[in-house]
Amino acid sequence: MLSDDFKCDRYWLLNARIPVSLLLPGTLPDGWSPDIPKSDRPEEPLAVFDLEIHHGKITQMHLSRSSQLAGGQPVGGQFAGGQFAGGQFAGDWQPDSVPAIDLRQGLVWSCFADLHTHLDKGQIWQRTANLDGTFDCALGQCQTDREQYWQAAELYRRMEFGLKCSYVHGTQALRTHLDAYGEKIEISLAVFQALQQEWRDRLTLQAVSLVSIDYFLTPAGEALADQFAAVDGVLGGFVQMHPDLDRQLDRVFTLAQERGLALDFHTDESGNPADITLRQVAAAALRNHFTGQIVCGHCCSLAVQPLAEVVQTIDLVKQAQIGIVSLPMCNLYLQDRNQRASQHFVQATLGDRLAHLQQFATQTPRWRGITLVHELRHSGIPVAFASDNCRDPFHAYGDHDGWEVFTQAVRIAQLDAPINWCDSVTTVPLKLMGQPTNQIGVGQPADFILFQARNLNELLARSQQDRIVIRQGKPIEMKLPHYSELDDLLPP
Ligand SMILES: [Zn+2]
Repeated sequence: MLSDDFKCDRYWLLNARIPVSLLLPGTLPDGWSPDIPKSDRPEEPLAVFDLEIHHGKITQMHLSRSSQLAGGQPVGGQFAGGQFAGGQFAGDWQPDSVPAIDLRQGLVWSCFADLHTHLDKGQIWQRTANLDGTFDCALGQCQTDREQYWQAAELYRRMEFGLKCSYVHGTQALRTHLDAYGEKIEISLAVFQALQQEWRDRLTLQAVSLVSIDYFLTPAGEALADQFAAVDGVLGGFVQMHPDLDRQLDRVFTLAQERGLALDFHTDESGNPADITLRQVAAAALRNHFTGQIVCGHCCSLAVQPLAEVVQTIDLVKQAQIGIVSLPMCNLYLQDRNQRASQHFVQATLGDRLAHLQQFATQTPRWRGITLVHELRHSGIPVAFASDNCRDPFHAYGDHDGWEVFTQAVRIAQLDAPINWCDSVTTVPLKLMGQPTNQIGVGQPADFILFQARNLNELLARSQQDRIVIRQGKPIEMKLPHYSELDDLLPP
């Protein structure tokens, strides 16, 4: 049971550790230096604050003094086991007897922004699985499912299931791609708009068109651009190597520029070094003098290309100010099935013995599938991580949980140190969505996530299922939806 303190319109959160990159600029005083144990040094600096919450906003923030006054012992209320117990504020600038909750140095993060999802495909695994785990099979299976099942009522329920998961886990903004061929997009867009309206107080939702970009050379493609402009959406599609690619891209950039739309592409979702569509998109952006925000997702093949190629691509991506979103869970699931990407490496290592391994029904992937996230970030390019598909043929698992995305990304990409990547699932993707910042500071909405963990090590060591999501100053009450809610959408 939660403390009554949260029912108050005004209360203090004491001893909150906040990663410095998640603080609103100007929140820290000049000359501030981190005051945390040396063992935490490899991490990003953390600042300890007391925060006053009033009317759903952060109204005061002070570097924490109550922990010093109390000799490091908790004072007043405590955060333990996913529950709060109330207490009274004990600092020397206590204005009055406002309820206070001692977070005991627990971490406070901005809410998640999930930059790349596919709500329309979500939750179909049990009726339409991926038979061999490959990308090609996923494409075919999703097309079959779309033609057979996608109607307004069932789309609404699956998409809302995904939103509930996302919200409960601590997300405040989410962008979804919507399969956009033919007349089905009218159904999907109508469902999306209904959900956007229904959830407007809880989640900021954006829709992106998903078609092969040659579609935009057709009249239907132009009409599609108009449809997405009408819903304040984002223009996008998946980009494939093609002799006519420059013309296709020029058309998309023109359509977006004319309508003032941002762009979001699926690029190079493969382990084929010959796939360089990310570079082609960057070149097209520069050629067309595009001024909107561009996001490119996946970019996997960049990681298997020769250095000279990589350098050239990163240089153009930076010039074009493109943001990159990596989808580590989906990439880990789909990439390098049957060692397609790493076969040259396996061949070189094993030679004649490769045939011996190939007699087995399945083989172990050698490649993690993700793009060069470190190199991109070190080059000054914004890098975000996102969910991508959940429980569909492109990714069998997932729950739209920004925390799971982060913790998996840390393991897959070795993001542990020396820089902290906590902005890659929070403030960076929100900025790439063109939304106001959700950095923590005075005047900002009291929207954040409270963890018991006091540093990155404690944070990553446990599942953090007991995190508490605060929205407009109150803990959210919604619970994760039960899978049985969708049972009747399965074929008999
Ligand atoms: Zn995707």
